[in-house]
Amino acid sequence: MTGRTRRWNGWGFADVSFTLPDAARTWLLRRLGDGGAMAAVSEAEIALPDARPVGDLGAAVSSDPSRRLRHACGASFPDLVALRTGTVAAFPDAVAFPETAGEVVAVLRAAAAADVRVVVRGGGTSVVGGVTVAPDDRPVVVLSLDRLSGLTSLDPVSRLAGFGAGTLGPAVEAALAPHGLRLGHEPQSFELSSVGGWVATRSAGQRSTGIGKIDELVAGLEVATVDGLWRLPALPASAAGPELRRLVVGSEGRFGVITEATLRVRPLPMHEDGVVVLMPGWETGVTACRELVQAGVAIEVLRLSDPTETSFAQTLIHMSPVAARVSGLLFRTKRFREGCALLLGWTGTPAEVRSARLATAEIWRAHGGLAVGRGGWRRWRSDRFHHPYLRDTLLGQGWGVDTFETAATWSDLPALHAGVRAALDEAGRSAGLGVAVLCHLSHAYTDGASHYFTFFWPLRAGRAVADWRVLKEAATRGLLAAGGTLTHHHGVGTMHAPYLADEIGPHGLRVLRAVAGVSDPAGTLNPGVLLGGHAMPGAPAEPVSPRTPDPRPRTPGGREGD
Ligand SMILES: Cc1cc2nc3c(=O)[nH]c(=O)nc-3n(C[C@H](O)[C@H](O)[C@H](O)COP(=O)(O)OP(=O)(O)OC[C@H]3O[C@@H](n4cnc5c(N)ncnc54)[C@H](O)[C@@H]3O)c2cc1C
Repeated sequence: MTGRTRRWNGWGFADVSFTLPDAARTWLLRRLGDGGAMAAVSEAEIALPDARPVGDLGAAVSSDPSRRLRHACGASFPDLVALRTGTVAAFPDAVAFPETAGEVVAVLRAAAAADVRVVVRGGGTSVVGGVTVAPDDRPVVVLSLDRLSGLTSLDPVSRLAGFGAGTLGPAVEAALAPHGLRLGHEPQSFELSSVGGWVATRSAGQRSTGIGKIDELVAGLEVATVDGLWRLPALPASAAGPELRRLVVGSEGRFGVITEATLRVRPLPMHEDGVVVLMPGWETGVTACRELVQAGVAIEVLRLSDPTETSFAQTLIHMSPVAARVSGLLFRTKRFREGCALLLGWTGTPAEVRSARLATAEIWRAHGGLAVGRGGWRRWRSDRFHHPYLRDTLLGQGWGVDTFETAATWSDLPALHAGVRAALDEAGRSAGLGVAVLCHLSHAYTDGASHYFTFFWPLRAGRAVADWRVLKEAATRGLLAAGGTLTHHHGVGTMHAPYLADEIGPHGLRVLRAVAGVSDPAGTLNPGVLLGGHAMPGAPAEPVSPRTPDPRPRTPGGREGD
């Protein structure tokens, strides 16, 4: 773990915060009106129930109240509200800190034998309820991977590096850099999320258009179960039956505890460059992105903001008066009234970067794009891990904010963008809430791309989570109805579990439950996560079937009937 103090009731490090610029405040006020500021209680005001005994777990265990509090929640909107308002629904009875894979097996065996629940925790940055402790009749232990951290093996010839599951993003890159290597997996939670968490949730980094999701970077795995250590060796390819590595990737702690991952690494780039291009509109921007990836142009970072996100992002930038005036004039021209910022980044040798930039420019120019310089790229490089602090600032000023993400084929993306926005607008109208919806396209593939949505709304006293739930459910139903995946990279957790069968079908759910039954026969691990079946704060109260009738034909093997 890093030496810096982590904030116990909000995002990130205690010594960092986000100051809301006046322009952003005005932007929010104009669209949402005033909300009720949510005060933060002090740690001393939170009373924990007595810890229930968990017995000897075969590893170091702590029942210290401060540790129990810091391991009760993840980083979802309901988690943040619970911590901020002192309304945490449940606390673990203890936190276990195994130091070896063998100790992880011991904890699992002891917990299964003693009827103790285990919540597996890497960095604790889950935004879908993956690490939130739920009320339980049985004692609950959080199994922290903090002490299984660091580089465990390196094969520079094959470009493979093994890491303990608890290794956080900065430690991964710090261990590789002296060897002239990098992983390049940089989710926005990079500073606080772990290798095991990335693998367990099928995470995507901000460079994933060039580098790929974590799915592509995992070569081998070691997984602890009650049966012992299950090793899936690092092999470039194989035909030895179905690929079990892929079954573990995205298993969210239900099929065992990942103790180590062997990852595909690459040389540090000699050179990096990037630019922000203003596209005349969302549709042309999306078309340009599709053409870029389908033409195979070597782009590492690609992110297209829709007009609303572009407009809000402008308010967060501290521009000189001259730059602000030029920018204002540009957005008032007919061509860029609905302007969309397209962020592009390339890496490689200087010659490779130049060639990729020229190939990219040909396509953006063909679609009316205008390069507005490297300043935006440099700002993105320096500020990108700072933006999540905005959530806490906004809660303190009366506005809620949450994000979710999905992906669909290029053919379905226009309906997805419109459908999700319409669903949120309608839900807000019915609830009497102003809602602002922002979106960007990122993580582009030859057959489609991800859409990442952010929504803001004004907080009403005592209704923050209830209002959030109405909006979140509308958004989830909207994206499923429009052909999007339930989640492109945040994972299922407990929050999305009731909707999983909509995407993989009831048979798919039975297959996953069967595997969980083999790996975790006592049902010890991560209650409610991925497969549902356990009431959790933040999840819909009733099992839901969100699928609205879809008249379009589905290819065989697609979504299944109920
Ligand atoms: C501000 C913010 C920004 C984010 N940005 C991104 C982003 O850009 N891209 C992205 O993909 N996600 C993002 N996320 C979501 C989150 O960071 C990812 O899901 C991340 O992969 C979780 O890693 P973690 O180590 O924090 O896992 P945790 O939150 O600790 O756990 C996540 C899930 O995985 C399970 N798990 C964790 N470790 C293991 C293990 N070793 N073995 C088995 N199961 C395990 C947990 O039980 C839980 O179900 C963001 C979250 C926040 C709060």
